[in-house]
Amino acid sequence: MNAKYFSLLEFTRSVTANIRGLDNTPPADAVYNLEWLCRRFLDPLREAIGGPVIISSGYRCRDLNTAVGGSPTSYHLLGLAADFHPLDPERRDAVIALVKEAKAAGEAWKAHPDTSAAPDMMFNQFIIYPTFFHVAVSPEGSAQKLQILRYNGFGQGYQKD
Ligand SMILES: [Zn+2]
Repeated sequence: MNAKYFSLLEFTRSVTANIRGLDNTPPADAVYNLEWLCRRFLDPLREAIGGPVIISSGYRCRDLNTAVGGSPTSYHLLGLAADFHPLDPERRDAVIALVKEAKAAGEAWKAHPDTSAAPDMMFNQFIIYPTFFHVAVSPEGSAQKLQILRYNGFGQGYQKD
């Protein structure tokens, strides 16, 4: 896989898949999407925070997605999403700050796309969970929504951040 900081195995390994004997090998188009996810979001994020980023869930085949309770339309099925956290928990706030900066830069660029190149880091949806983050990017060539949500673990679901 062609990415600066990540290997394909980081996006495909899964304890659940191992236990259940599921083959979580991604098809070529999902590998392409994982590379795009790295180029568009994860590599620039990793570069900016200057420390390891741990992928806890990347690509999921249909059976694995069902096993972990993923949405049937999850971007994980396409290789366009990842759950991750910085190895150093103290860098969590830095991740959130960078994503908010990326959202602001992305919105400024979307308002005037002809005047400059797209920012390095773009995303479709970013969800802040108590112990990890979920990021999804739209396929290459599609618009990125730049939506940030915060998951409230007390039964109130997702809220705009
Ligand atoms: Zn996720």
